Amino acid sequence: MTTASPLVAVQGVRRTYGAGHTAVTALHNASIEVCAGEMVALVGRSGSGKTTLLNIIGGLDRPDAGTVRVDGSEVTGLDELEADALRRDTVAFVFQGFGLVPELTAAENVGLPLRLKDWSPEDREHRVALLLELVGLGEHGAHRPDEMSGGQMQRVAIARALASSPKLLIADEPTGQLDTETGLAVMALIRGVVEAEGMAAIVSTHDPVMIALADRAVRIEDGRLVDA
Ligand code: ADP
Ligand code: MG
Repeated sequence: MTTASPLVAVQGVRRTYGAGHTAVTALHNASIEVCAGEMVALVGRSGSGKTTLLNIIGGLDRPDAGTVRVDGSEVTGLDELEADALRRDTVAFVFQGFGLVPELTAAENVGLPLRLKDWSPEDREHRVALLLELVGLGEHGAHRPDEMSGGQMQRVAIARALASSPKLLIADEPTGQLDTETGLAVMALIRGVVEAEGMAAIVSTHDPVMIALADRAVRIEDGRLVDA
C-alpha cells in the first residue's frame, strides 16, 4: 500500500435503476481506490456493472449511496458546472465505439478538447501533432474515421482523451470491438501513456486476456467488486 492519498476513492457506492419490483441494483456497496500512475483493469461480464461504476466515477451519473472522491473533489457533491469542469480538466473517457466525429479528420478529432479550452490554432496544431505521434499515427492526421481501422480509430480516441492532460483516464471496454492482437496493442498503449504521463487509468473489459498489462485487476460480479 502506498501512503499517498489515492487519486480515486470510491466508498460504499450503490446504484439502483428504476423502482419497485422492476428495480435493478447495478452496484452494491462498491469501494475501490486508484492511485496516480496506476492502471487498474475492471473485469466483468456484460451486465455486471462496469459502465455504471465508470460513469459514476467520471461524474456522468450519480450513485444512490456512497461517496466518490476524484483528485480531492467529492464528485457526488458537485453542481453541474463543477461536474463539467471535472470532465473537462481532470477526467477523460475512452469508449468501446471510439466516439469520433465522422466528419472530422484524426487531427481535428484530437484537437476538439483543445478548441473547447480556447487553445490557439498554433498551440493546438503543435499538441495534436505530438499526440498523434505518441499513439503511432503521426502520418494519419488527415484521415477521417472511415479511412482508418478500428485499432487506429481507438488510438485517435486515446490521443483525444490525452489532449488536455487528464489525471484520470476512464476507458470503458476500449478493446471490445477489436481483435485480440489489436486490443492488446491498445492496452499496451494505455499502459505506456499511464507511465509517461503519471496519470491513473481504469480500463474495463469482459476479456480476461486484456488484464495482462494492468498493474492490478478488480473483478465485478453482479454489481459487487472482488479482488481478482
Ligand atoms: P456492464 O457495463 O458491465 O455491461 P452495466 O453497468 O451497463 O454493466 O449494467 C449493469 C446492470 O444495470 C445491468 O443489469 C443493466 O441491465 C442495468 N442497467 C444499466 N443501465 C441501465 C439503465 N439506464 N436502466 C435500467 N437498467 C440499467
Ligand atoms: Mg458496459
